Amino acid sequence: MGNKFDLIVVGGGPSGLEAAKTAAENGLEVALLERKTHPAKIQRSCAQMFLMNMDSFYEEHMYFSKEKKKWVFPVNNFYVNYSGNYREFYACHFISPNATDRIEIGDYELNASGGGTPAVVFDKAVLLDGLFEEGKKAGVHYFLERNVTHFSKTAGGVQIKTAEGDILEGAFCIAADGINSRLAKITGLNKERLFINTRKSISHYVTGVEFERSEAIFLGISWDREALGPVPFCLLPSVYRDDEYWFFVSGDEQFEFLTKRSKFKSWFPRLEITNTRVNVVNNWSPAREPFKDNVIFVGDSCWFSEAENSGALLSGHKAAHAVSEALQRGMPNRDGVMNYINWWKQNWLATHDYRDFLCYPLFNRMFTEDEYNYLHHLVTQKLPWTLNPFKLYSRLMTGLQPHLERVQQERPQLAQKIALFRPEQVLQLIKPAARMGFPNR
Ligand SMILES: Cc1cc2nc3c(=O)[nH]c(=O)nc-3n(C[C@H](O)[C@H](O)[C@H](O)COP(=O)(O)OP(=O)(O)OC[C@H]3O[C@@H](n4cnc5c(N)ncnc54)[C@H](O)[C@@H]3O)c2cc1C
Repeated sequence: MGNKFDLIVVGGGPSGLEAAKTAAENGLEVALLERKTHPAKIQRSCAQMFLMNMDSFYEEHMYFSKEKKKWVFPVNNFYVNYSGNYREFYACHFISPNATDRIEIGDYELNASGGGTPAVVFDKAVLLDGLFEEGKKAGVHYFLERNVTHFSKTAGGVQIKTAEGDILEGAFCIAADGINSRLAKITGLNKERLFINTRKSISHYVTGVEFERSEAIFLGISWDREALGPVPFCLLPSVYRDDEYWFFVSGDEQFEFLTKRSKFKSWFPRLEITNTRVNVVNNWSPAREPFKDNVIFVGDSCWFSEAENSGALLSGHKAAHAVSEALQRGMPNRDGVMNYINWWKQNWLATHDYRDFLCYPLFNRMFTEDEYNYLHHLVTQKLPWTLNPFKLYSRLMTGLQPHLERVQQERPQLAQKIALFRPEQVLQLIKPAARMGFPNR
């Protein structure tokens, strides 16, 4: 085989491993390049949640089959094996800065007593390791500890170079190199995308945590009146230990404040950190199409913020079949993979507006401490389940809707802020937030 392949996959996350395995099972000669020592060695933050089929993404209703130990994608008719642990959780609670009032999505009590499993957390390293081993059996040629730095389009397809000196050629490349995709940059795909912002955050696995109804995901806002302003955080059960939680904040100062000085400090009586992961996310608007010069983009690489593991697996799977069919039909070009391009445009781009996704993080910056307490106190009805980040903000608004008249009477300024804050305007609000009198930290 030497350095020539049918398909070169860059990146060994869920999208790349699924793509490489599927293409090799279809009989293609596949190389996968990954810069880490092993794909299952996870350094980047990921909450490792998988939503069940009470929700949907990308026009698919994926779910985890506990009996068969598989992630099932019924609409697209495939599954992914998973032999690791999982832990169910039952609801999503938004907690106000007073640490008491909460807006509830999903029915915790009903689900905890066997009424349903809206979501689970899982062990991503086990998922990735399983895919890696299946790919190995199918004949994928793995190149580990390789940092892809150069790409060029050739007469026969693509040429990929690494910092370590490899030169590989292929008919197609699948870019599965994640949210800060170098391929999206060096192929020129990013030139047509809008750069939105860079977000840094830190996540700790912690023990010694105690609070009520803890088998849920908590999206909280704490408030440091002296220095930090609003301090959003997320707390979620961990898959690794029953007494462990995944704790996500934007930085060390925020972590210190939350656990030692905030109104939430009683939640952390014997706090210990068991593991830490970090991430930096460059947010771009989604690409107009997931293809450039025989590079097919999957997963996070050409999407906004996160495709999620489910979207990564799904797009990797679909792209691998598209490449296999293109080569079978003797069409090693854009026309050959048009099925994938059209599927992605219809099921991702046309059905998910990234501005909806941006609304929730911005919601955490829009109001004052007192306003958050007031809003969380108003909504006492349980809202229908979702954790789909494209739907979260509109679900919150559905909860507030019946109370808007009261807000108008009691807090006209707050009502005005709510009215101003719409997905169509979110891009304008990100930068001028401070000027409009919203806290901007
Ligand atoms: C804080 C946070 C929480 C999240 N929580 C969840 C969650 O609960 N559930 C969920 O489903 N999703 C979650 N996600 C999103 C999820 O992690 C991603 O959508 C998913 O991992 C994307 O998979 P991917 O294969 O596209 O990219 P990645 O998983 O990022 O994989 C990319 C791979 O490419 C490699 N790579 C990158 N550049 C190069 C290069 N130049 N050369 C060689 N290799 C390279 C990387 O090392 C990496 O292994 C979360 C993300 C964040 C940031």
